[in-house]
Amino acid sequence: MTHWIVADHVVANDGPGTVYAPGVIEVDAGVIVSIGRLTGARPAGADVTDLGAAVVLPGLVNAHAHTPMSLMRGVAEGHSLLTMAGFLAVLRSREAHLTPELVPASVAVSCGDMIRHGTTAFADQYFYADRIAPTVIASGLRARIAWGIVELGDDAARARELAAATAFAESMADNDLVRGWVGPHAYFVDNQPEAMAAELALARRLGAGLHVHFSTSSEEDDYCAEHYGAPALEVLRALGMLDVPTILAHCNTVPVDQLPLLAGTRAAMTVVPSVAMMSGAPAAPVREALDAGVVVALGTDNPCNNTGSDLFEEMRTLGKLAAFTSGTPDRVTAREILRIATVGGHAAIDSGPLDGTLAPGAVADLIAIPVRDIPRGPIGAQSLESALVYNTSGASVSDSMVAGRWIMSRGTVIGLDLAAAAARQQADYDTLVERMRTAGEEAS
Ligand SMILES: [Zn+2]
Repeated sequence: MTHWIVADHVVANDGPGTVYAPGVIEVDAGVIVSIGRLTGARPAGADVTDLGAAVVLPGLVNAHAHTPMSLMRGVAEGHSLLTMAGFLAVLRSREAHLTPELVPASVAVSCGDMIRHGTTAFADQYFYADRIAPTVIASGLRARIAWGIVELGDDAARARELAAATAFAESMADNDLVRGWVGPHAYFVDNQPEAMAAELALARRLGAGLHVHFSTSSEEDDYCAEHYGAPALEVLRALGMLDVPTILAHCNTVPVDQLPLLAGTRAAMTVVPSVAMMSGAPAAPVREALDAGVVVALGTDNPCNNTGSDLFEEMRTLGKLAAFTSGTPDRVTAREILRIATVGGHAAIDSGPLDGTLAPGAVADLIAIPVRDIPRGPIGAQSLESALVYNTSGASVSDSMVAGRWIMSRGTVIGLDLAAAAARQQADYDTLVERMRTAGEEAS
């Protein structure tokens, strides 16, 4: 059924920076049919949503998340989870006591957090993907949920995890919005080449993507230098790992001279600048990747490594970190950053080519922010894109639509009971701590 959305400002995010003021968007069957400047009287009726003095823009894509981990938000402060030492110190002891029924409430908390901060699509990767999916489906978010695999060269673990990943991805085959992907935790580090070959074959057979941590440190390059005499990206390309949609999360230490190997492939460099900063890791080479023609996307990672899931915060952190590390103001422009968080994100999750813009044929995934909540310089002094990236809090997002369906209206998340989820999450954490105490472990 056709629906019209009207607002004082509509950001097409089309490259030239078109803003329709006022603008009107026609949506049918989850897709944008037309978009343009509204002329004449503002339409009214049951099939019209007039958002008034608001800015409408494409929804943001969180291309690297671990939704169940909001259960452990805060426990890693003072540690870097980008290192094995940090993981062993705070996460392993808790994850050892994590059971499937402790997953859904934290997924709901994370999905609520993402929706309330302007995310309309995300890529998840964790254990218990089958327990993540029902809550994500209820939220209305678009998602790629990767079945997390850690096999450490263990044949039995590999076979078990691959079978589970297969069953999960096949179970999601009929869902247009939420698809099952394959989630090797990290190539070479804890997924050995035999596992990688099987994971690639599985992704190819199912038409799924791969979601993997990459270059959080130099571990992959060190392994590949020792075993293959070549950098990790060269080895991945030779193995065919870049021929299927692949999210390479972090890319903090990827050698700049290797970046051209990613251009034109189906792999996306998904950066998380806040996590690089908080972990004391190098900044991913975003400018160099864009110049090399690499797809760059943005993520928030887990809320233990990071502190939240506000992609607006992540966008301006990307801009500031790129300027700071290069000594060059505006090293990555606001327009480029907004497109990384939208167009780049949709490319990373293997959406259609127009997705992430508001154009005929693109998915109707969009968000609205009241004009009063976007502090902005005078028109002519500051662009709207700059104000969105550098002045706007994701918490100001009021309305959100995915595939033509509202998932948040006037600040209220529609598909999830967030108060109940928060209460249940507290009970789940108390359960986790009690299990650790019973096992004689310290829940510090
Ligand atoms: Zn991660």
